[in-house]
Amino acid sequence: MAGDLVLSGLTKRFGAFTAVDDLELTVPQGAFFALLGPSGCGKTTTLRMVAGLEEPSAGRIGLGNDDITALRPYKRPVNTVFQNYALFPHLDIFENVAFGLRRRGVKEISRQVDEMLELVELGGYGKRRPAQLSGGQQQRVALARALINRPEVLLLDEPLGALDLKLRRQMQIELKRIQTEVGITFVHVTHDQEEAMTMADTIAVMNDGVIEQRGAPTDLYDLPSTTFVANFLGQSNLVAATILERSGEDLVIDVHGSKQAVPVSRSRVTDGEVWVGIRPEKVFLARAGSETDTGANSLRGGVVTDVSYCGVSTQYLARMPWGQELTVFEQNTGARDTFAVGDPVDLHWQPSHTFVLDAGQDAN
Ligand code: ATP
Repeated sequence: MAGDLVLSGLTKRFGAFTAVDDLELTVPQGAFFALLGPSGCGKTTTLRMVAGLEEPSAGRIGLGNDDITALRPYKRPVNTVFQNYALFPHLDIFENVAFGLRRRGVKEISRQVDEMLELVELGGYGKRRPAQLSGGQQQRVALARALINRPEVLLLDEPLGALDLKLRRQMQIELKRIQTEVGITFVHVTHDQEEAMTMADTIAVMNDGVIEQRGAPTDLYDLPSTTFVANFLGQSNLVAATILERSGEDLVIDVHGSKQAVPVSRSRVTDGEVWVGIRPEKVFLARAGSETDTGANSLRGGVVTDVSYCGVSTQYLARMPWGQELTVFEQNTGARDTFAVGDPVDLHWQPSHTFVLDAGQDAN
């Protein structure tokens, strides 16, 4: 059955409410794929349909050349790891991991279980009970148990949600290592953008039952196609602007009276009202009037209204003449000026660091 996981027109309605709306999604074989979106957007429902735990209202689920839409859950080469590990408390770790093999009547169990425990770095823990392990260790047992039957696709539903931040970071790296080692397709559901960006090679951003955008983490972050994606994957400054004309490979835009050039390739639209987007770490702050010919795009006349020291960086808020507060992150390298509340400042950035979106959508 090996091959890409292909969801076509996949839909789930609960009464009059559509939780998943005509989803089209291909997850390439062997990918570490993240389904990212806010609570209630339909991620878990999608996962449950792939697992066979929820019947689609419409659409098809394909795996390689096979249609698995109507297959019973246990007949699918798919396994799921949930947030609440669901280990058997009365069985030791070895037997928890061996469970799937015993159920299938596999004889040669010991070697496979030991290998799997080594993979998740729990060799030697076989005789312990789940209650004698930490949360992170229990989660790794759940992973070993789900992987031992060598599914084609492993579904992970917020698997790190119950762990504290430090452990979660460790497990993110662990999961990535394990996925690379086993080469199985991982579909990871999360509402945590940092988690998705750290682990996945492809992310699909979901909102209100539909996929807004899919792509490599860097591409989504660098060139979001909607304001929702721009805001969900980190902070964005979105400033109202108007496209004046096209000049060669650039668009000339008016941003509150400042004329700026933006490469056409950075824009979703070529005329009309737009949002100009710029990430806070792509902006650099300068004392008002100090940088005159930077070759950059500039917005002048700001005043610093807040300074938050964050260790590696400092976050500044600058109120612009039209009343909007823009966010700037400056790395604390010691090489650059620092600013205080009340300082007059200008904001500069490279034209290629801008993204331009249709104004027909909310900025927030
Ligand atoms: P979370 O991150 O909070 O788990 P999610 O993105 O996984 O959110 P889903 O659990 O897929 O979201 O739910 C999507 C929507 O469908 C929600 O509005 C939810 O209330 C609704 N929903 C889910 N299951 C049912 C059900 N059995 N009956 C009615 N509505 C449901």
